[in-house]
Amino acid sequence: MAKDSDIEWTHHTFNPWWGCVKLSPACAHCYAESWSRRFGDELWGGSAPRRFFSEHHWREPLRWDAEAARLGKRPRVFCASMADVFEPRSDLDFWREKLWGLIEKTPNLDWLLLTKRPGQIKHVYPWAHSPRQNVWLGTTAENQRWAERRIERLITADAHVRFLSCEPLLSAIDLTPWLKQEQIGWVIAGGESGGEARPTHPNWIRLLRDQCRTYSVPFHFKQWGHWSPESQGEPVKRIIELQDEAGRLERLSWRPKQLSGRILDGRTWDGYPPV
Ligand code: SF4
Repeated sequence: MAKDSDIEWTHHTFNPWWGCVKLSPACAHCYAESWSRRFGDELWGGSAPRRFFSEHHWREPLRWDAEAARLGKRPRVFCASMADVFEPRSDLDFWREKLWGLIEKTPNLDWLLLTKRPGQIKHVYPWAHSPRQNVWLGTTAENQRWAERRIERLITADAHVRFLSCEPLLSAIDLTPWLKQEQIGWVIAGGESGGEARPTHPNWIRLLRDQCRTYSVPFHFKQWGHWSPESQGEPVKRIIELQDEAGRLERLSWRPKQLSGRILDGRTWDGYPPV
């Protein structure tokens, strides 16, 4: 199966449009905004335009679907890396409808809709109470406050899989109430990359991993980002000390993202929900 996304946990990435509005600490160093600027686009903010795409772009998932059917596979499609599918803006309604139509026409793809606005799902998503088999609904949880706020909204929608992206992980998070009740079926965690990346304490990742193990929920550690434990041994540029909530210090080194890698406690963590 071809993989044409750099994002470790997905096979494909599809963007129904580009552009968004920053919302919470996770958005502070929005990679998508910096990337769009490289193309000369100013697409971020409530009054900025959004960038839309031609039919050629919209036909790509049909090709992935045909390939998946031929190979008998179920590739994952991350939607969207350059926007938020549930941004409340009326000029996006036409494109959202087009997206729902595309999802219906591609039953061999698992669409992962990741949003920071789960409160909007009930207003614009057609399957909030009759879950589609090929859609997983997810939200971002970068710290406890946003986890509580967003998960409570996410779980009001039914979904084949509900998942969390705890990236960039900025504090310890207790997910126990939702994992215990089987309201979340997959947890992804990761550190931040980019020039202004904020560090993630390894114990914050371990805490999520261990909660997932306790409740048999698949856990996926995507990346350290630019800050990884000094003890991992690759060349060091800069060292900082970061304290977790219990006062435990960890020395972290700034490294290129590829050198930081995704090893935690001697191995990778590659959990996925059963398909
Ligand atoms: S929601 Fe996503 S795309 Fe939108 S500003 Fe935040 S990080 Fe960027």
